[in-house]
Amino acid sequence: MIQNLHTHATFCDGKNTPEELIHEAIRMDMDSLGFSSHAPLAGQEDWTMSPEDVPRYRTEILSLQERYTGRLEIFLGLEQDYYSPPPGNGWDYLIGSVHCVEKGGRLLPVDYLPEDFVRSVRQYYGGDYYAFAEDYYRLVGGIAERTGCQIVGHFDLITKFNEGDSLFDTGHPRYINAALEALDRLAQHDVIFEINTGAMSRGYRSAPYPAPALLRAMRERSLPICITSDCHDRSNLLYAFLQAEELARSCGCRERMVLTGQGFVPVEL
Ligand SMILES: [Zn+2]
Ligand SMILES: [Zn+2]
Repeated sequence: MIQNLHTHATFCDGKNTPEELIHEAIRMDMDSLGFSSHAPLAGQEDWTMSPEDVPRYRTEILSLQERYTGRLEIFLGLEQDYYSPPPGNGWDYLIGSVHCVEKGGRLLPVDYLPEDFVRSVRQYYGGDYYAFAEDYYRLVGGIAERTGCQIVGHFDLITKFNEGDSLFDTGHPRYINAALEALDRLAQHDVIFEINTGAMSRGYRSAPYPAPALLRAMRERSLPICITSDCHDRSNLLYAFLQAEELARSCGCRERMVLTGQGFVPVEL
C-alpha cells in the first residue's frame, strides 16, 4: 500500500497543481494520495490558503476524486495549524501541526527561515532555546484537543534548523521533558504520529522527523505511526520513504497506519 497523506499543491505553498500530483502518483504506482493544503492562518498568507481558497480547494479535490475513481484513491485532507480557525466538517482527515508560537502578541514561525528562527529566540526568549521548546511543545501537546486531528504533523519540527544539534542540545533534560510531556498528553487521544521526510527533501535534515529517541518513546507508549513526505514538489512525493521505514523498524515499530475508505488501518512494516 503506497500512500502519501501530506501533500501541498498550488492552493497553498506547493509547486504543482493537484492534477500534476495525481499524474505523478499514478506514474509511481501509488495506491492513494491525500491532499493536505495549509488551512488559513492570519498574517501567514504566503504559505497558507486564504479563507476564500478553502471552498475552491474542496470542490477541486472532490471533483478529481470522482474523475480518477478506479485509477487512484484520493483523499481530501487539511493541515490545520494550532492557530487556524476551526476547520468545520467534511474532511477525510486532518493533520494537526504547530508552525508558530505566539509570544508578545506575535506569531513566531518555527520552520520558516533559519535566520527568523534564530532571531525570534534571541529577541523573545533571550537566546534560551529550551524556553522556546517548552512553549512549542506545550502547543504540540494540545494539538489534538485544539484541532480534532487524526494525524500529528512533524512532532519535533522545532529541530528543522538544528541538524547536528547546532543550535541546542536535543539530549538536554529540559528539551526531553518538554517533548515527553507533549507525547504523554497526545497519548490520551486517538492520534497517529508522522514520520515526515519533508525537511530531508528540502536539504535541511539528513533524517526524518521525529528523532529516534522520540520515535522509541512513541513505540514504548504503543502510539501508531504513518509515513509522509510533506510534499511541496511532485519529484518528492515519496522522498526517502524507504529510509523512513528503516528508521521505524530500527526503533521497534512493526506497523504503519494507512488511510482507506474504511478509515485508518495498520499495515506491516
Ligand atoms: Zn507543516
Ligand atoms: Zn505540510
